[in-house]
Amino acid sequence: SAPKCNTGPDGTDHGSWTKEGDRVDLAEQSLLNKLIRRSLVWNRNRVEVLQRDPVSPLFSVKTFEELRLVPELLKGVYSMGFNRPSRIQESALPMMLAQPLQNLIAQSQSGTGKTAAFCLAMLSHVKPANMWPQCLCVSPTYELALQIGQVVEQMGKFCPDVKLAYGVRGNRMERGVKLQEQIVIGTPGTILDWCTKYKLIDPKKISMFVLDEADVMIATQGHRDQSIRIHRLLTKNCQMLLFSATFEDSVWKFAETIVPDANIIRLKREEETLDTIKQFYVVCKDEQEKFTALCNLYASLTIAQAMIFCHTRKMAAWLTTNLSKEGHQVALLSGELTVEQRAAVIERYRNGKEKVLVTTNVCSRGIDVEQVTLVVNFDLPVDMEGNADSETYLHRIGRAGRFGRRGFAVNMVDSQQNRKIKQLDTNNLEEVE
Ligand code: ADP
Repeated sequence: SAPKCNTGPDGTDHGSWTKEGDRVDLAEQSLLNKLIRRSLVWNRNRVEVLQRDPVSPLFSVKTFEELRLVPELLKGVYSMGFNRPSRIQESALPMMLAQPLQNLIAQSQSGTGKTAAFCLAMLSHVKPANMWPQCLCVSPTYELALQIGQVVEQMGKFCPDVKLAYGVRGNRMERGVKLQEQIVIGTPGTILDWCTKYKLIDPKKISMFVLDEADVMIATQGHRDQSIRIHRLLTKNCQMLLFSATFEDSVWKFAETIVPDANIIRLKREEETLDTIKQFYVVCKDEQEKFTALCNLYASLTIAQAMIFCHTRKMAAWLTTNLSKEGHQVALLSGELTVEQRAAVIERYRNGKEKVLVTTNVCSRGIDVEQVTLVVNFDLPVDMEGNADSETYLHRIGRAGRFGRRGFAVNMVDSQQNRKIKQLDTNNLEEVE
């Protein structure tokens, strides 16, 4: 099963999946992202489209009308507040809806509209008069499956004849009873059981197979194998659609097994630019000095919003307690919280209820809060061996100064190792203000 532990042997909260192995629960992070997301992630990059048949014309749409959806579905799309297709949807939607059916592998960072795209495709694909499962959608966890289901329900609310079933653990079904729902969303284990052991679904009648979050899926061996086994039960004519936020070689290999002859759509991430971020350092000999420096800085932190990064959960908790004792209002985002609790903390912070958020690296991955203008590294990021982790550093300070705004990063260091960054006098803060 998926690794649940976010903490290293020394109590260190490690952030990187690739460098430190399977410490971060990718499915949880993905869920957190979905819970806190309210709108599309903005991206100026061009969509790369690789067509299987290079001579067939390349369609891309600028409006939902061009897709010629049934009016009920179009109404559902508009009722969600979508005015026009997102960047990835412009190319992905016409491909997914085309006749004859085409297979698709699509990659773009989370928040760019993939889920909405395949939910629309499923709703448009099914024949409501046929009372059996026609679309199968697999997702890495129960919670993520429910998130997808909610999108289908919202978007399909004017299509009352299209029904949805959740193939997730706990949803007990009697053996041999045939499902009548046209769309089934679930986790690989349950879906596989429903197709084989329980015979609730006839896999030969499935004409659209969606595999969401392929990168998260293959991080769990069992899920990877179950997905491949489901795939083997399907017919050659079934349309295969695969989505992923990242694309390493392992994801790619998996994608090619599941989706033969695929069209490929990719949208590169926006580069994080540091041009608009001013970086400073403060030399402190220990935690107490760091704390004092932070208190001196405090007035400047709360001009806008700040995030303070600590190396361990323990340090983050210590700092939060002490800042609160000084009468400061701070929020703590910690690995001990459930995903729902973390989402609530971020929500409060985003709404400005707290202006300062103390966190560790693991917790903060993927969080975009637009108004963050100041990032404080209470501890500089290091990897398991204690070496400077510049990737995480860039990732962290990239939070400040997003969307072309001015940002500041303040690093608390115990020596003058980092000469490229300017020393900051916390008794003279004109520069920051
Ligand atoms: P992903 O699956 O890539 O993470 P989602 O489909 O969940 O992205 O979309 C991210 C957010 O953007 C969601 O809140 C969703 O409702 C919204 N969204 C998706 N498509 C559109 C669109 N065309 N216009 C406006 N908002 C959209």
